[in-house]
Amino acid sequence: MKIGIDIGGSHIGIGLVDENGNIVEKYETDINGNEIIKNNENDKCNEKSESNIINKSDEQSKDNINNKSDNINNESDNINNKSSDLNKFIENYILQAIKKLSKEHDIELIGIASPGTPKDGKLTNLVNLGIDELDITQIIKKEFNGKIQINNDAKCAGLAEKQYGSLKDYDDAVFMCLGTGIGGAVFLGGKELKPKRNPGFEIGHMIIKKDGISCNCGKSGCFETYCSMKRLKNALIDAMGLNKDINAKELLNVLKERNKNLKEHREELNENLKQNKDELNERCKNLKEHEEKLKKRNEEVVVQKILEEYIDNLIIGLSNVIDLLEPEAICLGGSFVYFKDILYEMLLEEFNSRKYVFNKNALPVIKFATLGNDAGIIGATIVL
Ligand SMILES: [Zn+2]
Repeated sequence: MKIGIDIGGSHIGIGLVDENGNIVEKYETDINGNEIIKNNENDKCNEKSESNIINKSDEQSKDNINNKSDNINNESDNINNKSSDLNKFIENYILQAIKKLSKEHDIELIGIASPGTPKDGKLTNLVNLGIDELDITQIIKKEFNGKIQINNDAKCAGLAEKQYGSLKDYDDAVFMCLGTGIGGAVFLGGKELKPKRNPGFEIGHMIIKKDGISCNCGKSGCFETYCSMKRLKNALIDAMGLNKDINAKELLNVLKERNKNLKEHREELNENLKQNKDELNERCKNLKEHEEKLKKRNEEVVVQKILEEYIDNLIIGLSNVIDLLEPEAICLGGSFVYFKDILYEMLLEEFNSRKYVFNKNALPVIKFATLGNDAGIIGATIVL
């Protein structure tokens, strides 16, 4: 058995992984200590959700971990602003889980999936957590003496999709994780391509626009400043005046509803155009109603424009990757997967026009990640 630990931008997932890449036991918490715990055999494709399936034997451990996080939350008014408290919370949470799992199972390896570029066994520059450095290897060594490995989270998710998920039938493939940023992993001849000095394939930091939006990396016009899901979500939230805390699922529902409305509005608009002006005025006697409709239509036009621009930029990035690597398949993962109902058709329609790729008769297949949020945990345990 192996343990995979996925340290994300806002949550920590820890899973016991068997030799076939199945997660047989899982612990999850957000960084504020709101714990989600589950024993999941069958939810690989599901969105992260709270589960009530808790084993009797897990109860004690859940209580322990919850108590710990309660204590930490009580000590600190705002855990997000105090990175040393957050470091402590992460340490406690991880050690509790390792202690429990290694008591019950023979653990041969612990793998960590982390954002950014891990260095010398340490996690560094976790921008979204506000942590400069976390010596995760030393922390884990307090409870575990075996092999410890760390890899970038997008690379882990790519490895998992290649070995067990939607890329398993392809030798030449690219995994692209569209989430808070954009990361990726490249496989040629069935093997992951790994440069010697750095992790490589910083797909999110290809420049797709001269003098474009400034990126956290110090450059301007990077692919991820146009095509990360964070960027798309924020643009849509602004355009539709939605609550900033809306989650991906809720936003998707708003978009789906909007698509339905858009169709109705178009039909209505066409109908209106057929009428002469007097008739139209008659129909819209209520000026307020008229203005409301106009506003709604404008908003829809803006939203449509955001989505179209997003797809245009995404295709530029895809095109660069395709011409450079000639993969048989590209797998899109990260929170992009939640929006596939809205974006996939638009993407395919444009992509299949073939005007963006050099080898027009060898378009790669576009796939979606199938392992969902578990890909990081599973991929962390794949031996490097
Ligand atoms: Zn950049």
